[in-house]
Amino acid sequence: MPAVTTAKPFQPRIERRTDPVSEADRDAILNAPGFGQHFTDHMFLAEWTPEAGWHDERIVPYGPLALDPATAALHYAQEIFEGLKAYRHENGSVWVFRPEQNAARFQRSAARMMLPELPIDWFIESIDALLSVDGAWVPGGGEKALYLRPFMFGSESFLGVRSARKATYAVIASPVGGYFDAGVKPVSLWLAENYTRASAGGTGAAKCGGNYAASLLPLAEAAQHGCEQVVFLDATEHRMVEELGGMNLYFVYDDGQLVTPASDSILDGIIKKSLRDVAADLGYNVTERPIAIEEWTEGVAAGRITEVFACGTAAVITPIGRLVWSGGEVNSAADGQAGPVTATLRRALVDLQYGRAQDTRGWMHRTGR
Ligand SMILES: *Cc1c(COP(=O)(O)O)cnc(C)c1O
Repeated sequence: MPAVTTAKPFQPRIERRTDPVSEADRDAILNAPGFGQHFTDHMFLAEWTPEAGWHDERIVPYGPLALDPATAALHYAQEIFEGLKAYRHENGSVWVFRPEQNAARFQRSAARMMLPELPIDWFIESIDALLSVDGAWVPGGGEKALYLRPFMFGSESFLGVRSARKATYAVIASPVGGYFDAGVKPVSLWLAENYTRASAGGTGAAKCGGNYAASLLPLAEAAQHGCEQVVFLDATEHRMVEELGGMNLYFVYDDGQLVTPASDSILDGIIKKSLRDVAADLGYNVTERPIAIEEWTEGVAAGRITEVFACGTAAVITPIGRLVWSGGEVNSAADGQAGPVTATLRRALVDLQYGRAQDTRGWMHRTGR
């Protein structure tokens, strides 16, 4: 296992862009950022080899990477990523939500994909460094934020199935508005009965690009059935509820219980984890346990499950409306609105992220300018 965890001092060289985006053009982008379409002036890069460990940390102008056609990641998908957001608070300060959780998960993903572990400090400092240069790209107002995308890939040039002896770590940043175009409207789900996202012992718990590649075909099937997202079941029985392609699930019961599915092949979401505490503060009882698809469909039909929502960094919390499968459908948001529990939890989390609620757990990390 090529794990190097001893941190050398973090000393990024900074090469500033000589032709940064003008203030007027940047303001126009920040006014209507969309999602993942525009990128800031700079990016963070660092290299790893077994001999030198992590080195050549630098902030350089955002732009194309020159890759040898034999770059390992292009052939064998040795790639992992993270996603987190920088929020601008009312007083102008910039904050990131629980970055040490992303850093720790990045290490777990790296271990599963035989990539080198990046020290937690370096992960957080790379974000701080990029935001110290590109902090003006953090939009203010509404639910806008600067989405941060740290990623790592095997960058050695060779063909052969072994772990790469060179890795590249990068952070890019993209100003974003709301994740779903329609705002906080219930999302429709297609139940994938012929495809799975992840299997026991597979890579479901690692945040790796390959998992997303595998979810695209079922996503296209969902669209053919008029649905926006896919819900995946376990790979063995095709019966236990796992998650969406990029978001975890919560069920709200009529007795005030909240349940989120337990499984080893689910991606351990930081929003999912954080909601356990936020919901407990608000008096809800949260359990993580296996939940079968019949419990969902029958529960909604019988009124025992009153709300269903999905959660993740990009969209925060999204109410689920229709769940459609080849033989029928149920709707847990027939009125087209987020249910009261969904709305309450969403507001509590967003208020915390945007500095409107007290950060009693020290979850917010101050950074940038
Ligand atoms: C990233 C991701 C999530 C959500 O994780 P958060 O840390 O809450 O943003 C859920 N499922 C999958 C498959 C993911 O890749």
